[in-house]
Amino acid sequence: MSVLDSGIPIYRFFEEISAIPRGSGNEEGISRYLAAFAQERGLRHVRDSANNVVIYKDGSAGREQEPALMLQAHMDMVCEKESSCGHDFLTDPLKLRVKDGLLSAEGTTLGADDGAGVSYMLAILDDPSLSHPPLECVFTTSEETGMDGARALKKDLITARRMIGLDEEGEVTTCVSSAGGRRLLARCPILFSENTYPCYLLTVTGLKGGHSGSQIDRNLGNAIKLGFRVLYQLLERGVDIRIIRITGGAKDNAIPREFAVLFSSTFSPPMLEKYVDQIGADLREEYFEEDPGLTVALEGAERVDSAITPEDSGALITMGYLLPNGLLAQSSRLGIPTVSLNVGVIIQTAENIDFDCLLRSPLRSAREDMSRQVEAVSSIFGGFIQVQGDYDGWNYSESSPLRDALRQALAEKGCELQEFSTHGGLETGIFKGRYPQMDIITYGPVMSGIHTPAETLDLGSFLRSYENLVRVLEII
Ligand SMILES: [Zn+2]
Repeated sequence: MSVLDSGIPIYRFFEEISAIPRGSGNEEGISRYLAAFAQERGLRHVRDSANNVVIYKDGSAGREQEPALMLQAHMDMVCEKESSCGHDFLTDPLKLRVKDGLLSAEGTTLGADDGAGVSYMLAILDDPSLSHPPLECVFTTSEETGMDGARALKKDLITARRMIGLDEEGEVTTCVSSAGGRRLLARCPILFSENTYPCYLLTVTGLKGGHSGSQIDRNLGNAIKLGFRVLYQLLERGVDIRIIRITGGAKDNAIPREFAVLFSSTFSPPMLEKYVDQIGADLREEYFEEDPGLTVALEGAERVDSAITPEDSGALITMGYLLPNGLLAQSSRLGIPTVSLNVGVIIQTAENIDFDCLLRSPLRSAREDMSRQVEAVSSIFGGFIQVQGDYDGWNYSESSPLRDALRQALAEKGCELQEFSTHGGLETGIFKGRYPQMDIITYGPVMSGIHTPAETLDLGSFLRSYENLVRVLEII
């Protein structure tokens, strides 16, 4: 018994794919379903080793010779459920329900992100009555966990140089730019020697943290950077510091909320405490608006018999203090960050301290420039950088025939197209990096609460957005 009206193809396909478990990394079933869909309709298709599926469809009558158009959506979904929900994402179909025109799944994420885009492509491929150019429909895997499918897709599977990314929401909105990212480790070598001095624990806590893409411009405190600032200011005041253990942050793409450093010092304990209080008071005032919970604290700790040498401790503190961080450049036209860096995690091993950094920019040259700066800082202290990953961004382009077509389709419905940009990473950026000539827009229906069990899809908008998409295919 279906929940949605199966006479409406996008509803029917959405319900069908909702019955197939398809969390990121578990795409075998949905990938097979897509390949079978193509097979049954005699459509040429490729299923690769990453479970990506590309389905090709000729242009409609009279449009066979037009340049191809790529449509794209990711087949995987985020698997989140309410704590009381017994759903097994590896085996159970989603339990769809409709309330007040909104579709959701009982106790779990709905996967409208990006099941909506998948359903759109299936409906278009299934409908012989539509007018469209030759289509290359790309269904990618593991978008939600690092865009691995898009990265793995073979370059020559796509001939199109215009693309509609269907991983979008909003009905009247389209994305015009996304950031590329580069993850790097900045290394500072360390040597330990015997320690006989008293030990202290310095902590920076109470910060809000946030996403290093969407919230890097909010002036939020970075616990690691603030911790190093306190240490550097202590050095400046003549405090001798030998670092023993240092921790901070959890993920490279999250602004770190906590920092802790165990160190030894011969400095007078009451003076040390006074200095830390003074510096902490200054920081609280600086971050009063954005991070009112900021707390800098010092306490005595048990003595530890080995510590990083005074020279290496000084070098490490200076390096941590000097590393660039946060919002570094902003676009006045788009009103969003264009270059940023997040010092996200500190990793300590027996011989090194690594700063795990994520830097973002739509421009490769800007990412390279930031890498160079971080490398220059590291090299002063005998360190170096290791690039752990790099993906491309998508810079704003003045001219976009696809955007003009979408604007026209919306105008025919009395709606005005709203453009926005993101400082986060998108699959569209990966495709732009691979095919620099690609004209790209994104489009999708109204949804809310994505990545949470409160996720909903507005069924009216789902239909209207589909009609708008079909209209774009007609007029391009
Ligand atoms: Zn998505």
